[in-house]
Amino acid sequence: MPTLLQQPLRLLIDGQWVGCASGASMDVINPSTGEVLAQEALGGAAEIDQAVQAARRALEAGPWARMRPAERTRLLLKLADALEQHGDELALLETLNTGKPLKVARMFDVGHAAECLRYNAGWATKLNGETRAVSLPGDWHAYTLREPVGVVGLIVPWNVPLAMAVSKIAPALAAGCTVVLKPAELTPLTALRLGELMVAVGFPPGVVNIVTGLGTEAGQALVAHPGVDKVSFTGSTAVGKAILASAAGNLKRVALELGGKSPVFIFPDADLDRAIDAAARGIFSNTGQVCAAGSRLFVHRSVAERVVEGVAQRARQLRVAPGLVADAEIGPVISARQRERVMAYVASGRAEGAEVVAGGEALDGAGYFIQPTVLVNTTPAMRVVREEIFGPVLCVQQFDDDSLEQLAARGNDTDFGLSSSIWTRDLRTAHQMVRRLKAGNVRVNAAAALDFAMPFGGYKQSGWGRENGREGVEAYTELKSVAIDLN
Ligand code: NAD
Repeated sequence: MPTLLQQPLRLLIDGQWVGCASGASMDVINPSTGEVLAQEALGGAAEIDQAVQAARRALEAGPWARMRPAERTRLLLKLADALEQHGDELALLETLNTGKPLKVARMFDVGHAAECLRYNAGWATKLNGETRAVSLPGDWHAYTLREPVGVVGLIVPWNVPLAMAVSKIAPALAAGCTVVLKPAELTPLTALRLGELMVAVGFPPGVVNIVTGLGTEAGQALVAHPGVDKVSFTGSTAVGKAILASAAGNLKRVALELGGKSPVFIFPDADLDRAIDAAARGIFSNTGQVCAAGSRLFVHRSVAERVVEGVAQRARQLRVAPGLVADAEIGPVISARQRERVMAYVASGRAEGAEVVAGGEALDGAGYFIQPTVLVNTTPAMRVVREEIFGPVLCVQQFDDDSLEQLAARGNDTDFGLSSSIWTRDLRTAHQMVRRLKAGNVRVNAAAALDFAMPFGGYKQSGWGRENGREGVEAYTELKSVAIDLN
């Protein structure tokens, strides 16, 4: 049993592990079994205030302000090594808390977090302004400076807790900011272990503060706090909109990574075996709890039977089991409430005329398991097609003699615009679709190939701003224009 679970869970404020003043707590549940893993401290406005003040001190007076960028690089690289050294333990905590297969947690969640730290570590020494030629009379020396945006509030969801926390902490610290992290209340474990490792590798007090608690209390207090310069949020579109309103008080900067309802297009000339495999993985991985999941499949009528049967067969064959079972491929959804939500969507799809060709049922037992599900005969007006389900449910529609214009319009017929995939061997089809799709990420003949060099984010109601790449780290800076009159 990881040592984290053998002690009361605490908050990390100013380098100290502390309880919360109210003494409030909630159960942390293992979704594979419904068992209680730990008691989480529920921080509130008081703890958020202490954490923000500690982050401010570290930013302005503390060692962080005086540290060379190369020192920030070194610390981030040390943390990446520490994550790998403790990879088995972190993966076990992630599997216990989310139900995901252990090997996925080890390879993807922990591996991804370590790589994210290494990618961003390099940016600490490469954030430059530039000189500008200005068309003013006389002699001028004009240039831009990139400065840390300040104290940043980071709020993350429960689907990939460790990787999501690191994907915000790494660029924020590389840019020279200090942070207050509010993990999702359902999944605090790996964030807390990450905090322990950050203290151990030598991040100074106050640079990273972690306040666990409810979204409506700790989360809201963080977003509304006047001492916070920026909030970076990943989560649902509904909460993203609420955050915009709460952040208005001091007009803090807001970055939003929100939901999706991403289309996958399979053309008749595609490599169908690869396309089928990727379509299945694209919706069933992480039990469909992925913002960029390909949840709407558009398949050409001439290959629809083969593609639908191929994806349905994979859905039936996937081993749905607790993450600690050696050959588990799909774990439970995160909570009983999430299982109810997903099953209500499946019922509404059925009621509106969709046909279930694979799955469609919740599994009996203590954990929150759902069969990977494929719905055909879905239409654009159905709730299952319009709303983000965030579960292992694929909605299939066919196309026939649609022009690329019409087909892209069908794909774009959604409030979201996070991701999309195109499967074809025809360059013209691929490029024309790429240009027409209103999505922040487009993949051609590729499954979800996320690289930290590539900006990630959404059009429309899938969010504001981009994570990863130069844009992702620059999002944690302010740009200052300096003009010096040399006359
Ligand atoms: P959620 O919006 O309910 O919660 C996300 C986080 O926000 C949690 O930490 C929660 O405590 C906090 N929160 C809730 N209410 C708040 C409030 N009023 N003020 C401040 N914080 C508050 O989302 P979820 O159910 O945890 O996660 C699923 C959603 O996240 C899905 O919609 C999914 O698409 C989205 N998501 C998006 C991305 C992306 O990169 N675009 C990645 C993963 C998940």
